[in-house]
Amino acid sequence: TREVSVKKDKWVTDLYTVDSVLGKGKFGEVKRCRERRTGRQLAAKFIEVNGPQDRTDILNEVEIMKHLQHPRLLQLYDAFEHRERFCLVMELVNGGELFERVINDDFILTEKACVMFMRQICDGVAFMHSQNILHLDMKPENILCLTREGNRIKIIDFGLARKYNPKDDLRVLFGTPEFVAPEVVNFDPIYPATDLWSVGVICYVLLSGLSPFMGESEAETLSNVTMARWDFNAEEFESISNEAKDFITKLLVKDPRKRMTASECLEHQWLRRSVKRESHLP
Ligand code: ADP
Ligand code: MG
Repeated sequence: TREVSVKKDKWVTDLYTVDSVLGKGKFGEVKRCRERRTGRQLAAKFIEVNGPQDRTDILNEVEIMKHLQHPRLLQLYDAFEHRERFCLVMELVNGGELFERVINDDFILTEKACVMFMRQICDGVAFMHSQNILHLDMKPENILCLTREGNRIKIIDFGLARKYNPKDDLRVLFGTPEFVAPEVVNFDPIYPATDLWSVGVICYVLLSGLSPFMGESEAETLSNVTMARWDFNAEEFESISNEAKDFITKLLVKDPRKRMTASECLEHQWLRRSVKRESHLP
């Protein structure tokens, strides 16, 4: 455990050598970096601040990452604020976005690989929810593979995450149309179940390479989402097991109160299949 506080008297380049770009996000770039004192390889996320709301949002991201210490959730290592910029130094995750595995036409993920991924995703989400934190941006771009070949993942990007209090009426208006839950689109109250909808979409995408709600336009996608209009009709699903389909069917439910929770997912037959318990995961 490492207590991270935002440094204001130094900038990242005082302590780290910053290297090549790893990825681009909505608010800035993520670059490879190395801590000079230890030689440790890490990732630095640079975020531009445009006004007080941005600053509040970034400090929220920092607080949430500090709170979430779990092997499936990206860990924060250091943080800097200087003028209109923040830099969050985080664990380096080297294997690329889970997204790249899906769009790689050379091979379709096996159901076994999907089980491995989904088990870890649900494990991370179950922990987040046990800490009353909602991620609210679950999608394959925000899940990184530890290595190019292996099946180990980490959930990243707590930029939209929120503390959840069951007594509050929490509503949000953001997200990615293909992955966002109907209650978000309708600006209805959100719950931990809101993340589980996205987990269901991720599972559908991993198994088939198809996006269940994707329409010709964004408006059509959102309309498919709010009506929970989706099916397994594509031929990609012909060889998929009934257990896998049952798993998705219990997540892509319009009423958030009727969706499986993350812990229920972990108890579902499909994820319990040939479980070699993964308690030894790094
Ligand atoms: P944003 O909130 O702008 O979407 P992310 O935190 O999702 O920013 O980072 C953007 C991209 O940068 C990710 O999709 C990923 O490709 C890459 N990236 C982010 N964090 C790391 C990391 N710790 N290690 C390696 N690559 C990362
Ligand atoms: Mg992101």
